[in-house]
Order: sequence, then C-alpha cells, then structure tokens
Amino acid sequence: SVLGRIEETDGKVGAYVTVCAEDALKQAAAVDSRRARGEELPALAGIPVAIKDNICTKGVLTTCSSKMLYNFKPPYNATVIERLNAAGAVMPGKLNMDEFAMGSSCENSAIKLTHNPHDLTRVPGGSSGGSAAAVASGETILALGSDTGGSIRQPSSCCGIVGLKPTYGSVSRYGLIAFASSLDQIGPMARTVGDAALLYNTICGRDERDATSAHHTYPDFTKCMGKGVKGLRIGVPKEYFGLGVTKEVEKAVLEAVDALRAEGAEIREISLPSTDAALAAYYIISSAEASSNLARFDGVKYGYRAREIDGLIDLYEKSRSEGFGDEVKRRIMLGTFVLSSGFFDAYYKRGKVLQQKIASEFAEAFEGCDLIATPTSPFTAFRLGENVDDPLKMYAADICTVTVNIASLPAMSIPCGTGADGMPIGLQLIGPRFSEAALFNAAAHYE
Ligand code: GLN
Repeated sequence: SVLGRIEETDGKVGAYVTVCAEDALKQAAAVDSRRARGEELPALAGIPVAIKDNICTKGVLTTCSSKMLYNFKPPYNATVIERLNAAGAVMPGKLNMDEFAMGSSCENSAIKLTHNPHDLTRVPGGSSGGSAAAVASGETILALGSDTGGSIRQPSSCCGIVGLKPTYGSVSRYGLIAFASSLDQIGPMARTVGDAALLYNTICGRDERDATSAHHTYPDFTKCMGKGVKGLRIGVPKEYFGLGVTKEVEKAVLEAVDALRAEGAEIREISLPSTDAALAAYYIISSAEASSNLARFDGVKYGYRAREIDGLIDLYEKSRSEGFGDEVKRRIMLGTFVLSSGFFDAYYKRGKVLQQKIASEFAEAFEGCDLIATPTSPFTAFRLGENVDDPLKMYAADICTVTVNIASLPAMSIPCGTGADGMPIGLQLIGPRFSEAALFNAAAHYE
C-alpha cells in the first residue's frame, strides 16, 4: 500500500530520489514467508522505513542529492541499515534532501524539489525534507533523517510529524556521509511518538565502527511512555521567543507547555543567554568541518568527474566546480576561510569557545529543570522560492535548533498546533544527554 501511495502521490510531493519497489516487495515477501513458517518476527517486520539519501545503502544509489554523487552506489550498508534489516524492516526507497544536508527547505537538492504535503506551494523544511514529506503524506510509515543543526526537527515541524535528534553518540554514524562529524546524528521520523520510539529502539546502541559511539545501556523506549508528567520541571528559556519567532508560533508553543502544567508539570522561566550567538558559532563550526569532510570529493575516488581536463589540478577544480551546488560551495569557502591561518583564532577558535559556553549554560539550566521547551522553528513552512536568494534568511530557520547539536543534546519536535496559513507548528523538547526516555514520555502526552 505504501508503494501504491508513492505511485499515486509522489509525482506531486517529490519526496523520493530512488524508489526500490522490487527490492521492497522481496523484503516484504521474505517477512511473509517467515510468518507462514510460524517464526517469531522482529520488531519492525514488514514495516516500510524510507531512508534519507545521505545514508549508505549497499548497491542502492546514495546521492546526497548532489550531482557530485549522482552515480554513487555504496559497496556497504550503514550500521543503521544493517540494524533495520535485522529488525525485518522494508526499504521503499531513498529520500530527497538539501545537497549534502546543507539547507532548511530541500531547495538545495540538485535532483528535484520536494513539496510540503499540507500545501504543495510550500517547502517541506530541510535538510531531511524528503523524509518529513514522505512520512506526512503516507508514502512511508517511518523514515530516517539526519540532524546537524536541525535537519530532523525543523522539517518534522514544517510537515506536522514527530522527529527526534538523539544524543550525540547514541546512533552510529558509520555509513552516514559526513557533513559536520562532531554534530551529525541520525534519528527517527514518524507520525506518532510511539512509532518514533520503536524506530529509535532499533537504531540506537554502541557500534565499534564509529569512534564517537557511546558506551551506554538503553531502555526499551516503547515502555517509557505513559508515566505521567507530575512533578516534571520544564524550563522555558525566554531567549527562544525573541529570535524572530512569530506570535502564532509563540502562542501555540506556550499553550502546549500549559497543557503539561495542567497535568502536574512545573513550569519555570529560565535563561540561556548565549542563544543569540549560537547561529554564528554553528555556521563557523559546521562549515569548518564540512570543508574538511568534503575534500574527498575530488573527481578521482568516486562520483562526478569533469570531462575536458588539463592535468590533475584542473581535474580537481573542474569536478568540484561542476559537481557541487552554490550552497555547498559557500560552506566550503566559509569553512576554508575560518580555518585558514590568520583567521583561525578570530573565527574557529571563538566558535569553539562559544560552543563550550552554550553547553555549560544548558548544563546549568538542567540543574533546575528536567526538560526545556521551545519552538522548533520560528515560523511555519514558507513558500517555495521565498528565501532561495537570501542565505541569511534561510539560516534563520535554524535559530531554535542549532544549540542542541552544539551541546550534543537530544531534542524532539512534536506537532502542537496550526498557523493561520493552515501549516503545522512544532514544539521542541530538549533534555540532558541520554534523556530520551523522558522526552518520549513527555512527548507522548500530546497524542
Ligand atoms: N539547516 C542547517 C544547515 O543548513 C541544518 C542542516 C542539518 O541539520 N543537516 O546547516
């Protein structure tokens, strides 16, 4: 039925880069025969889980929505894919995104536009816009996204679904094509909190192939819900309501917080003073790492190669000039600049100092509260084309989400209302490291 839905709807929504109908039906048939044999089936047996196109899938195109990787078929699976396979999941296909996960609207994809299923003239958010649109339109049941500065949460908010950016180190990044390695995390996107918990159960856990993978024991998150919120202390940071957050988003978020108060949660106003500097720190750190990570796309090892070339340097130059889109080039230049000698101290080092400051402000805030509630995005999904010529305006969409990655924290976006334009609004709940159980429990209250 998911394949039928893709056939019927994806021409309009444009969530998929690659549909794997035949393989998906084979995977589903394998589950069927296991059931027929009376075998006990694993947690996601037969459940369609579609995958953002920056997660390596063996033998299946993994393009990062870039011309640079237009023909890249990885020779191996990411760890999360192996875990999904072991859990019996079915992969309907690969999902559109902003090129190399850089963007907030999916408009930086070199492959196609994705439309918001709630209003086809609007963006689905980004960079995991294909993942959010596919879940919201019923073109998959579950999806994986990746989040470096908001790319799971912001599109989830724009499309009215649930998305979790997990604690850094809880989901293996092995096989995730790196954007900013110290910030990137893979996470679940789903229609309900319970579905997200089920998917998170499957993908979290130690992986020795990722050097930053945490040694930690995880509970069964599907059993962490329904415990009530009585006595739960929720901090509301005043700084998150100044940052260009529209009145209707503020209202919906505060009402959602009030709903927890009505159930016995304690609401406190808190302060996270460095919030307004977070966007600058994020774009310095993430671009610095991106400039290094993307150096491997040189036209030699894999991916796009320019045709008419005059020597090796020319091969590098032409392949990179032709293979990368404008936003990716902008980040590479910005990153190379902030890392260059003479500017390193003024930019990168200051960015890293700010990162420490932001992290310690969160740590201090968590001494007085259990979770923090903010908007996910300052505004509802904007119209396609509205912000494409103004990168700074586009970056403003991440203002409420980047702090979480900078501080390695987990955070979830949950639908909490609708704007005057009929578009979904998201509430963001942030917790201390490894507090996903508390996030799922509080979020489940909204269903
Ligand atoms: N929109 C942000 C950016 O463009 C976040 C991207 C992400 O989380 N991958 O960098």
